[in-house]
Amino acid sequence: MINKLVIIGVGLIGGSLALALREAGAVNEIVGLGRSRENLEAARTLGIIDRIETDLASAVKDADVVVLAVPVAAMQPTLAQLSACLSPHTIVTDVGSTKRDVISYARQHLPVHLARFVAAHPIAGAEKSGATAAMANLFRGRNVVVTPMPENDPAAVQMISRMWESCGAVVNTMPPLQHDEIFAAISHLPHLLSFALVEDIAFRANASELFSYAAGGFRDFTRIAGSHPEMWRDICLANRDVLIREIDTYQSQLNRLRGMLEQSDGKSLEEVFGHARTARAEWLAGKQDS
Ligand code: NAP
Repeated sequence: MINKLVIIGVGLIGGSLALALREAGAVNEIVGLGRSRENLEAARTLGIIDRIETDLASAVKDADVVVLAVPVAAMQPTLAQLSACLSPHTIVTDVGSTKRDVISYARQHLPVHLARFVAAHPIAGAEKSGATAAMANLFRGRNVVVTPMPENDPAAVQMISRMWESCGAVVNTMPPLQHDEIFAAISHLPHLLSFALVEDIAFRANASELFSYAAGGFRDFTRIAGSHPEMWRDICLANRDVLIREIDTYQSQLNRLRGMLEQSDGKSLEEVFGHARTARAEWLAGKQDS
């Protein structure tokens, strides 16, 4: 049971966490802070938070858990402000999609509080954003990756793991670099490709003609280009070293396919498409089993 929970950034993820914890009966009071008053008012009206605070120090006073649910580039200034006002017992955690950057900001700004800073990333989301997009069941059956630091108090890691489990999530732990490498390949690169394709089509002279014929395949491939630009700018920049390596690997794959087209090598093309189709079917079947 969390007596006082503070959520900084009551958007899709922060708001969904609040709703899930409330539904589980795992929290007593939820205080929200954020950027626009309008979003915080919506969060209060929807019953996501109990009250709005504008002053960080009074918001986090005596908090059991503070959750940072802002875009990853806003984590650094938020942690800098938090450093002066945390009670020793307060556990601080985050939901950021990249982990090495957030951990380095925590090391920089919370050096005496590191035992109680637990970095985490819920693997659930949507293209929608803000408090009005929050859903109580967003994390049910979904993975949450916790990336513990050597300085962490094991009790704090356990507390944050239990918090996510009470939302119906499955918690895994791994080192921050491994986290960032995995999500560069299977999340950050696909988002970048999706944004790039829409950008490429949208600025052609015959864009409206192209869009008028675009159907299911284009819709599926570009669904994630509907995601929040600010959030994805921050994620791509925070993980740029690993993401650039992933772009290079993908470019090699495209060059390989390009070569097959130049050679009219249908046999090799069919082999690649066949491998990809089998791999995707096996992945989906595994997901259904789990
Ligand atoms: P979101 O719906 O846009 O929510 C972010 C909230 O943070 C917004 O309410 C925003 O306020 C507020 N905010 C932005 N900058 C701020 C600042 N400088 N100070 C205080 N509040 C600020 O985004 P989200 O999808 O919940 O993402 C939040 C975090 O979760 C990000 O770190 C993201 O990487 C991570 N994450 C996202 C997903 C996903 O698929 N969406 C999945 C897993 C993890 P306004 O409403 O006033 O703009």
